[in-house]
Amino acid sequence: MNTNSIFSTDGTGRFGPYGGQFVPETLMPCLQELERTWDAARQDPAFKTELASLLADYSGRPTPLYRAQRLEKHCGDAARIYLKREDLNHTGAHKINNCLGQILLAKRMGKSRIVAETGAGQHGVATATVCALVGLECTVYMGEVDMKRQAPNVRRMHLMGAAVIPVTSGARTLKDASSEAIRDWVTHVATTHYIIGSVVGPHPYPAMVRDFQAVIGTEARQQILAKEDRLPDAVIACVGGGSNAIGIFSGFVADEVALYGVEAGGSQAGSSAALSLGEPGVLHGSFSYLLQTQDGQVIPAHSVAAGLDYPGVGPEHSHLKDTGRVCYDSVNDDEALTAFADLSRLEGIIPALESSHALAYCRRILSQPTAVAPWRKKPGMKKPLVIVNLSGRGDKDMAQTGEDDS
Ligand SMILES: *Cc1c(COP(=O)(O)O)cnc(C)c1O
Repeated sequence: MNTNSIFSTDGTGRFGPYGGQFVPETLMPCLQELERTWDAARQDPAFKTELASLLADYSGRPTPLYRAQRLEKHCGDAARIYLKREDLNHTGAHKINNCLGQILLAKRMGKSRIVAETGAGQHGVATATVCALVGLECTVYMGEVDMKRQAPNVRRMHLMGAAVIPVTSGARTLKDASSEAIRDWVTHVATTHYIIGSVVGPHPYPAMVRDFQAVIGTEARQQILAKEDRLPDAVIACVGGGSNAIGIFSGFVADEVALYGVEAGGSQAGSSAALSLGEPGVLHGSFSYLLQTQDGQVIPAHSVAAGLDYPGVGPEHSHLKDTGRVCYDSVNDDEALTAFADLSRLEGIIPALESSHALAYCRRILSQPTAVAPWRKKPGMKKPLVIVNLSGRGDKDMAQTGEDDS
């Protein structure tokens, strides 16, 4: 650890060149305490049992793996399509998996207070939920713009006893909320644990959050083997910070399964496609792909999906991009909105706008030539098997999508 600099890294927690601990020195003892606690907990059967029982009885896991046959028809019957129903978790998205894990760690560290950032409000709601569950004080930072477009989630957090603090700096969205949450944490580090909502931030967060979200991939793997007696050909997930994607990928990364991470291509107003369009740089304590100017100034992200509206991405995804193990691409706002309407009408499932990016990409690779998806021409193959991670439900997005659905 370089103690001469206000930004230091001890060189741990790297994924290839990415990751690290680019934080002020005052935070280092905290990160080390968190890492020690997490290391001990993951080997402690009592911790595993407590977390497993909360995931089952409180959040409703395992979430179903559902075959969407009308969606298959809509995609030209080119594949069997399964949806991993993370939308059916308590609080409506995958975020609760990570929050339940981290709140148990916060208790073990004897912290009395939790801070969190939120974009769509999903992580804020999940954090407020677990704080109510164990009786810890909760402060959530949220961009003013996001508070407007996700007003029902603000009300949910208030109801569960959380303080929601509007962030008025910068673009008043997720990046700015993250910066404020970190500022709060630095100031109250002795009593406070920061629950990061994705596989971003300094080590140990990216690895720890991945491990908490790996339950998605573990279940999906068992479920597809039970239903189809084989592994899928492709797994598709949307990527904001990348936690739902890394969670489901972790179940298949060691196998011959094509993995697709779908970023938000946004619109002419901008994008959130850090992997597709960015360059490596440091943001929020970690080295990873980042939307930035030539001078290294962060470019404000844009997406119709508030949960994808982040200019950075988890460091492990940067490594998976460079090694070529995962294929990253993007779909734009309009494509996501179309997929949102399609799934609602075809299956009676209203998907989150974030998840709609993965659905739109599924449609795209099934309707385009095999060059995009080489696995589609495996010799002797009948019908490809595809799993789309439905990271959350879209009730929160009703105001965003308007009434023009004819
Ligand atoms: C927050 C969120 C995302 C994006 O976060 P990741 O860490 O990339 O998973 C995606 N889908 C939903 C429903 C979300 O709430």
